[in-house]
Amino acid sequence: METSTYHLRCRECGKTFDNQPRSYCEDCFSPLEVTYDYDSLRSRVSRDVIASRAPNMWRYRELLPLPAEYQPSLPVGFTPLVSAPRLGDKIGSRRLLIKNDAVCLPTLSFKDRVVAVALANARSFGFDTVACSSTGNLANSVAAQAAREGLKAWIFIPSDLEPAKILGTQVYGAEVVRINGNYDHVNRLCSQIADGHLSGERPWGFVNVNLRPYYAEGSKTVGYEIAEQLGWQLPDNVVVPMAGGSLITKIKKAFDELILLKLVDPKPVKFFGAQATGCSPISTAIKQYSNEIEPQRPKTIARSLAIGNPADGPYALKAITKSGGWAEDISDPEVVESIQLLAESEGIFTETAGGVTVGAARKLIHQDRILPDETTVLCITGNGLKTTDVLANAYEAEPAIATKLSEFESYIATRVAALPAVAETQSLAV
Ligand SMILES: *Cc1c(COP(=O)(O)O)cnc(C)c1O
Repeated sequence: METSTYHLRCRECGKTFDNQPRSYCEDCFSPLEVTYDYDSLRSRVSRDVIASRAPNMWRYRELLPLPAEYQPSLPVGFTPLVSAPRLGDKIGSRRLLIKNDAVCLPTLSFKDRVVAVALANARSFGFDTVACSSTGNLANSVAAQAAREGLKAWIFIPSDLEPAKILGTQVYGAEVVRINGNYDHVNRLCSQIADGHLSGERPWGFVNVNLRPYYAEGSKTVGYEIAEQLGWQLPDNVVVPMAGGSLITKIKKAFDELILLKLVDPKPVKFFGAQATGCSPISTAIKQYSNEIEPQRPKTIARSLAIGNPADGPYALKAITKSGGWAEDISDPEVVESIQLLAESEGIFTETAGGVTVGAARKLIHQDRILPDETTVLCITGNGLKTTDVLANAYEAEPAIATKLSEFESYIATRVAALPAVAETQSLAV
């Protein structure tokens, strides 16, 4: 095997492995992760080299596990980092920023980042079929990028996912397997199928099972982009939605690597995790000062986050508590209200996971765990058009009127009369 600047290493016992489709240690069965030869990277990566490249996640290619000579076929990433003064005003932060992964990605969620890295490796490992267990966004992304790469895709999902997420998988021609059960059941089945691959039975690359160490590295690009977009500085706080708990740990890994490579000055960053109360195994453990994650049976509208037994839960918990951060969870009605708050104040329409992030951030600010003058980045990870069903009863259909000026004049008179008094005084004050 040719020498590579990265390889696999067990997160617990430290045993190292050559690059291969494998996610757990053969000795202690703990998860594997990708590690790099940072000494050799230090001389090859600089702010200038990165800045000279196209604005997408491949500009950080040395820091990703990509096969030699890999040529990406899609520009993925470099989503906007925007200030959010109106939302900040409403929830009590004067330096609030939004990393907006609801836009500028092939299937409108941050999962496109992880899938791009996973598929780069699927090809080089010789798979012609890729697969995944998914709470929805991963399904969309694997299906779309597999189509783009000419790979076959098998997608395993809980049967009750949002219609837009099912359709948004089928449209790419993927094989969709709906399973009567929750994500944790689906994932267990996929692990059994993927293990068949080890004995040569079913040579599939499961992006979040046997390719998981490579897949997970894609999430680091959220962290690199935040630092670069802040002018190569780290924020004081980041608030991240948690499902399996991988994204939050990888943003931390990204910041640690940037410090190690001297691309940013060292600085403590607090990590805050967000969950829906109906599926909150990680935030519950943190709020109870426990190191044990108790699996839960998910019951929430935030389906993209509905993982009751989070694979990276213990690592997310450690990243949060060691940083001096915290975690919070919010109810389903608060998720809907927070989606509306973000849309009305900043013009960003996020899915349920983004509502979870905004609502949890508001709680954390009210608890003084996040202070008003600190730089706080909210990670908005998916697009609201995929979960419109949660807003189905939120708005009344407006009556249609004829194309006549007089009709509009009497219509607007009734609308203005119906406006709440508060809104009127506000508009007078402007
Ligand atoms: C998958 C997902 C997450 C959380 O990802 P983990 O890495 O599993 O914690 C957050 N937001 C959205 C929209 C997702 O699809």
